[in-house]
Amino acid sequence: MNNRLYGNLIFELSKEGRKGYSLPENNYGDYQIPKEWCRVEDAALPECDELTVVRHYTNLSNNNFGVDTGFYPLGSCTMKYNPKINEEVAALPQFQNLHPMQPGKTVMGVMTLITWLNQALCELTGMSRFTFKPYAGAHGELTGLMVIDNYHRSRNDMQRKKVIVPDSAHGTNPASAAVCGLEILEVKSTSEGLVDLGDLERLVGLEGPNIAAMMMTNPNTLGLFETRIPEIAKLIHDCGGLMYYDGANLNPMLGACRPGDMGFDVMHINLHKTFSTPHGGGGPGAGPVGVRWGLEEFFPDISPYHGNFGVMMRAYAYILSLGREQIKNVGPLATLNANYIKESLKDVYELPIDTTCCHEFVFDGLKDKSTGVTTMDIAKRLLDYGYHAPTIYFPLLFHESLMIEPTENESKETLDGFIAVMRKIAEEAKNDPELVKTAPHNTPIGRVDDVLAAKHPITTYKQMLNDNN
Ligand SMILES: *Cc1c(COP(=O)(O)O)cnc(C)c1O
Repeated sequence: MNNRLYGNLIFELSKEGRKGYSLPENNYGDYQIPKEWCRVEDAALPECDELTVVRHYTNLSNNNFGVDTGFYPLGSCTMKYNPKINEEVAALPQFQNLHPMQPGKTVMGVMTLITWLNQALCELTGMSRFTFKPYAGAHGELTGLMVIDNYHRSRNDMQRKKVIVPDSAHGTNPASAAVCGLEILEVKSTSEGLVDLGDLERLVGLEGPNIAAMMMTNPNTLGLFETRIPEIAKLIHDCGGLMYYDGANLNPMLGACRPGDMGFDVMHINLHKTFSTPHGGGGPGAGPVGVRWGLEEFFPDISPYHGNFGVMMRAYAYILSLGREQIKNVGPLATLNANYIKESLKDVYELPIDTTCCHEFVFDGLKDKSTGVTTMDIAKRLLDYGYHAPTIYFPLLFHESLMIEPTENESKETLDGFIAVMRKIAEEAKNDPELVKTAPHNTPIGRVDDVLAAKHPITTYKQMLNDNN
C-alpha cells in the first residue's frame, strides 16, 4: 500500500517547527491565563504542513470500506445507500448551526419539522407519538422499557419486573432490560426459527403477574416473519404485560405492515439504519421511541434536548424524497433481493431454515463441511474480492452463521457479482482450501489476532512507542 510512504500515524510524519496554519494578527492584546490552569508540559501535537496532512487523511480514508465504495451485505445492520440529498438537507447552515440552548421562539420552524417527522413515523408504524430523545437503538430500548415500567408503576403493579426475550434476540434486548432493573426470561425458538408458543405459554403460566413486557423483533434476527404475533400479543396482554417492538431494522416492514396494527404498544426505530444516516464506527444515531395511544404520559425524562437533530433531518428528507408511494417499495424490494441471493446460493451454502425470508437470511457455513473452511475464512476471502463481509457468527443459533442482508438499493448486476464470488469461494474451498484459510491476501494487513486486540487493545500512541522500544 502506498500508504506506507506517508507513514501510518500522523505523529510519525511530524517535523519539529513545521506548520500548516498561520494565525491572523492579534488585535486584542494578550490575556494572562492563570498559572494553575496551564499545562505543565506542552501537548504532544504533530507538526505537519497542510499537504502532508491532506495526503495522510486521504490515504487513510481510502483504506476504509463503506457503502459508497462497495457492496456491504452486513446482516442485521442495514448498511444501505444513503442518498446524498439527505446529507445536503441536514448540512444546511440553518440546521447545522442550531444551538440546543437557543431560545424557543427562534426555533419554531425546527420544532415544526420535528412535529412533521413525528407524524410521518406515526403513520409508518401505527404508533400515536414518538420521542426523539434517545441517541441510539439500545438507548431507545432502555427508554421504551422505562415507559413500560412507568406504566406498571402508575397502576401500582410494582411486581412486574420480568421481560420475556426470545433466544434469537439482538444482544441489546436483554442488556437494556437488565440496565432498566428488569429480569430476563428467555423464550425458545422452534426448529423453524420462530418463537415457540408452547414455551411462551409455559412462561406466562408460571410468571403471568410478574411479566412487565415481551420484547420482539419482527422479522426476527433470522430474517423470518413471526406469523403468530396476534396470538403472542393476546397472551401477553391477557396476563397484564405490554408488547415491545424492536424496530431497529424497520426496513423490511416499510410499506408492508405496521407494528402498531400487530398489537405492539411501545417500539423504537433506528433512524440510522432504515432512514438514511450513514452509520457504523460509532457515528451519530437516533433511536426514537413510539408509543400507542394512552401511553404518551409515561415517556421518561431522559434528556432535556431532542436528540441528534441532523439524523432526524436526514430521515425526514428521506421520507419526503421517497414519498408515500415509493416508500412502499422499500420492504418488498429488500425482501426480493435477499431471497434472490439465498435461492442462488443454497445449493453450495448450508441453509438451515429453508423458507422464504424477509430482508435477510442466515447460512450455516458451506454445505460441504469436509473442506475445513469456516465462515471466518469465507468472510476474509470476500475482502480479497472487494466485498464487505456479511455478519458472521451471529445469531448464535448456528455454529457457522453467515448473515446476509443486501438491502433494497442494490441492482441485479451487483447481486449477481456477489453470488458469482460466493460460488467461486465455495469452489476454492474444495480445490485449494489453503488459499481461503490464509485469506485475505490483497488487503493492507492480513488477519489480526482478534482475541489479543479485544483483550489487550493498544489505543494510545505513547503506549505503542513504549511497546516498540
Ligand atoms: C442494531 C440493532 C440494535 C441496536 O441499535 P444501536 O443503535 O446499535 O444501539 C437493536 N436491535 C436490533 C435488532 C438491531 O439490529
